[in-house]
Amino acid sequence: MNARLLDAIAARRDDLVSLTIDLIRFPTVNPPGEAYAPCAEYIGERLRKRGFAVEYVRGEGTPGDSDRYPRTNVVARREGRSAGPTVHFNGHIDVVEPGHDWSVDPFEGVVRDGRVYGRGACDMKGGLAAAIVAAEAYIEHNPDFPGAIEISGTVDEESGGFGGVAYLASKGFYSKPRVDHVIIPEPLNKDRICLGHRGVWWAEIETKGEIAHGSMPFLGDCAVRHMGAVLAAFEAELFPLLDGKRTRMPVVPEGARRSTLNINAIHGGQTDDFRPGLPSPNVPDFCRLTIDRRFLLEEDIGEVKGEVVAILERLKRERPKFDYDIRDVMEVRPIMTEHDAPVPAALAQGIRAIFDREPDYVISPGTYDQKHIARIGHIYDCVAYGPGILDLAHRPDEWVGIDDMVQSAQVMAIGLDLLLRGSAA
Ligand SMILES: [Zn+2]
Repeated sequence: MNARLLDAIAARRDDLVSLTIDLIRFPTVNPPGEAYAPCAEYIGERLRKRGFAVEYVRGEGTPGDSDRYPRTNVVARREGRSAGPTVHFNGHIDVVEPGHDWSVDPFEGVVRDGRVYGRGACDMKGGLAAAIVAAEAYIEHNPDFPGAIEISGTVDEESGGFGGVAYLASKGFYSKPRVDHVIIPEPLNKDRICLGHRGVWWAEIETKGEIAHGSMPFLGDCAVRHMGAVLAAFEAELFPLLDGKRTRMPVVPEGARRSTLNINAIHGGQTDDFRPGLPSPNVPDFCRLTIDRRFLLEEDIGEVKGEVVAILERLKRERPKFDYDIRDVMEVRPIMTEHDAPVPAALAQGIRAIFDREPDYVISPGTYDQKHIARIGHIYDCVAYGPGILDLAHRPDEWVGIDDMVQSAQVMAIGLDLLLRGSAA
């Protein structure tokens, strides 16, 4: 059976390329969320013609949703002939802005040297197209398949996924008994399986001061100097502590195989900008710092927060007039699907069949929509697997290799077959 199915996918090469081009031609730039509805409808109408039941679900009231920029998602489901598990392919349809320095029109879908160029080619319209073609070819060759196949095209992944996968998950689209296995064809390379991601804690720290005339700072209390003390303590204690924390998670790139902290932003005092007016003449009475802490499976979120709070509390005891607030901005737990779970096991068999090698198992340094599928939908048998080179994402002249798309569609079709027949693990 496999050989015929694989040949059928190879024979759909031109269809796969033209589908990818068609998807690129919808300029689904986020923000603001341009052209979501026509792109979702294009996918939905294609799948409806192939026997899928299609639903359009708008992320009503989610960030950015408006009548001008509706957060339109598409979910398509094809029932099999008999009972069985549901395998779901999820791809985000939004792309980031193209930026400058392109040698081709980023929304034309130019084919050159065996590649399709365009914004979203690799992240991730090429992967979504490969999943669609894999599912279509599979259904044609196995009309009696058991279970069900679902494909969703979702919005807003690039801005957190709130109007897309998170919204759908809150409505039960990514939960049992509706769905059992999820594959997200993000561009992790055709022979690698991404098992999950590190955790995220974003927080805002504010130090307090007392306003006074800038010529007599001793009459006030400078919130920026207090924040300086926070940063000095981070440099002396926190960064070395985090550098020493290693993980068994196979994060790529290797530099992210440990705990990290970024200082995203700092602002203290009133305006500091000469252009609209004049800078503040005052002693600043507040200073705010946003931190982005990425943490590991081996770490507990309470411990992660506790490291920062312990420094702030110590400064409060030791430093005169020091006071602070800390506020959580975002929290995502680390996720790692074990590599012998059904989805990675099925894709691994596909990778062995197509490339005659063992897959690499990786973990993403940052998060993607898998977080919502796990946290809200409670589906843990989920990975990212798809064609394209992650380093090209969000860059000028983004491209996806046509051979890579065909081969990863073959891998996905083999995985799909194993999962539907319950013979993956
Ligand atoms: Zn992506």
